[in-house]
Amino acid sequence: MERLGGGAISRRRSVELKGIHIPHNKATAEQETTVMPLPSKVMLPMQQHVGAPCVPQVKRRQQVEVGQLIGHSDARLTCDIYSPVSGIVREIRQVHYSNGWSDEAVVIEPDGEQTVHESVQKPEVTDFASLVEALKHSGIVGLGGAGFPAWAKMNTDLSTIDTWLVNGAECEPYLSTDYREMVEHADTVLEGIKACLDFSGVPRSLICIEDNKPRAIELLRQMAADDPRIDVFELPARYPQGASRVILRNVTGRSVPRGGHLTDVGALLFNVTTMSEIGRYLRTGMPLTKRRLTVMGDAIARPQNLEVYVGTPISEILEYCGCAPGPRKVIIGGPMMGTTQVELDVPVVRQNCGLLAFGVNGPVVPRQTACIKCSRCIDHCPIRLSPIEIHKAYINRDTARLDELMADLCVECGTCSYVCPSKQPLVQSTHLARALLRAEQRKAKGRR
Ligand code: SF4
Ligand code: SF4
Repeated sequence: MERLGGGAISRRRSVELKGIHIPHNKATAEQETTVMPLPSKVMLPMQQHVGAPCVPQVKRRQQVEVGQLIGHSDARLTCDIYSPVSGIVREIRQVHYSNGWSDEAVVIEPDGEQTVHESVQKPEVTDFASLVEALKHSGIVGLGGAGFPAWAKMNTDLSTIDTWLVNGAECEPYLSTDYREMVEHADTVLEGIKACLDFSGVPRSLICIEDNKPRAIELLRQMAADDPRIDVFELPARYPQGASRVILRNVTGRSVPRGGHLTDVGALLFNVTTMSEIGRYLRTGMPLTKRRLTVMGDAIARPQNLEVYVGTPISEILEYCGCAPGPRKVIIGGPMMGTTQVELDVPVVRQNCGLLAFGVNGPVVPRQTACIKCSRCIDHCPIRLSPIEIHKAYINRDTARLDELMADLCVECGTCSYVCPSKQPLVQSTHLARALLRAEQRKAKGRR
């Protein structure tokens, strides 16, 4: 395995130019974050993370306070859920998530007092074990969209890790929440990184930022200048630069073996807002209960970066931002990897970072024509897959061929669909192909 070693490395690497250039449309990037007032209710689904769902720890009609534990599980992989408001638990019922699933949720009506619960205390952290233990009570998950519990991601053998990557690429068009975190809260970003390096012994951290964010690059370089372990790595703005395997390869030159993890090749990768939340939690003890969303799209009268309480219904956010009635398309997340919404009474969950609404001039479902074998989908795939072959194998439900084509490695970035002149449903097929392969693997395990 290539090691970066302890010496200086280039702050910019000439990277392999797979992926695509797409219009950034980040018109809200230079607007200060605004704060949305308390919503009429917050809906807290019990699964807002990778791992086992939580179980409600409160009852109907119970008074709760800000930062109070609302959902918990004793499972090995999970992440506790905390109240963003003080108020009364009105009901515990099934709600839909923005991704179409449904689950039990605790619905709280705010009382407007925002009384903080007595359990919110600055954690005492003296070593790596106590850092991991503290983060178990922070509610912090991967805020780039993955939702993997932060404590679980770092709870690994760190003796072979030489680089802690911090992902500030934010390559999705429209979204600028990570950018705002870097320019508004560079202090907590660096506090989080320093705490992680201090307690883990990992020798180096690189904050990876696309070169279309010069203000964030400059600011973080200046503020990190007194710590030789931390530097900013500038990447060309090219989608999907922020995908974990892509950023790893472009920064360190390493590739993750199939079925492996970044830790197998000496690296950890945390989203920059996740790192900032770690810094904030260690400073205050307040668990993660708020999220910044980029709210944009041609149906939105007042586009902005908006801080909202986790659990806020997206219908109330759209109304607050002046969404025109009856938007043609509403997406949670970015336009490339986000999820189109079929209903609007769904809550914001911890890992959401964008809310887009488009009106009459918005996107239309493209007309699909026959593949012209131009190979653009293959040429631009950042993982070097053959999306059209995966699509054909999926149509035939040929799992052996899907395995051969390594469909499981797809990061669902949507680049293949974006470049396809025939508008083949390539990313949809790779998504379904991955699910099919996972189901096959589960079946095979059951037979053994
Ligand atoms: S096959 Fe997957 S990784 Fe490759 S371009 Fe398509 S969506 Fe992205
Ligand atoms: S980009 Fe579209 S048209 Fe070209 S080979 Fe791929 S699927 Fe066919």
